[in-house]
Amino acid sequence: STVQRARLVLGNWKMHGTLADNAALLAALRQGAGNHCEMGVCVPFPYLAQAESLLKGSTISWGAQDISVHEKGAYTGEVAGAMLRDFGCRWALAGHSERRAMHGESDQLVADKARAALAVGLTPVVCVGETLEEREGGNTLGVIERQLEPVLALGADALARLVLAYEPVWAIGTGRTATPEQAQEVHGAIRVALRGLGVPQVRILYGGSVKAANAATLFAMPDIDGALVGGASLVADEFLRIAAV
Ligand code: PGA
Repeated sequence: STVQRARLVLGNWKMHGTLADNAALLAALRQGAGNHCEMGVCVPFPYLAQAESLLKGSTISWGAQDISVHEKGAYTGEVAGAMLRDFGCRWALAGHSERRAMHGESDQLVADKARAALAVGLTPVVCVGETLEEREGGNTLGVIERQLEPVLALGADALARLVLAYEPVWAIGTGRTATPEQAQEVHGAIRVALRGLGVPQVRILYGGSVKAANAATLFAMPDIDGALVGGASLVADEFLRIAAV
């Protein structure tokens, strides 16, 4: 049976932006928003208030790039999910490969972050992906399975309220996107696991050098439900074109 999954295109600004640049970008997105799929931007924490004020009432949602597993307390430098909700966030990325690699985030911690996001009504976007070494060693699906294990263990009710993103590390910021077939192989394997848990409707985004020029062929694959877009989300026209495919 076919399950309808609404396409979703999310921007991940990473550590880019200034108040002035963001104002121009957000205004252009807001103005250009019309004939596009569901769309959102994940911005640096200090710019959440700006995103809220400039996107409120538009069809574009916003969110954060990380979330604490803790509710509150003595956790210097951490940002709690309730704080993100205070600024109208819809999304919280969890387990982006840059955080896994540079901040030592474990598979279990990432699942705990997803759980923390769900607890306050945010939609976690849980990122998984293999390195080039892992791919060349023939371990891609094994790595994805290991990364997803504690996430799948959250259970069907949780899974039904989150989004997954497959982002091969070697495709991120490199200009070297996965071919649609390479991406579909992983998305298809994830779909099989989701179907087995009774949640075939979970959206699986692809990320890694997505551009307007390659989005359509990626989106044509049966289990690619949208994109998580880094560099191209900083250019209003490019990002809008991806969301208008
Ligand atoms: P990229 O980044 O589109 O610049 O490759 C994607 C991501 O890291 O989410």
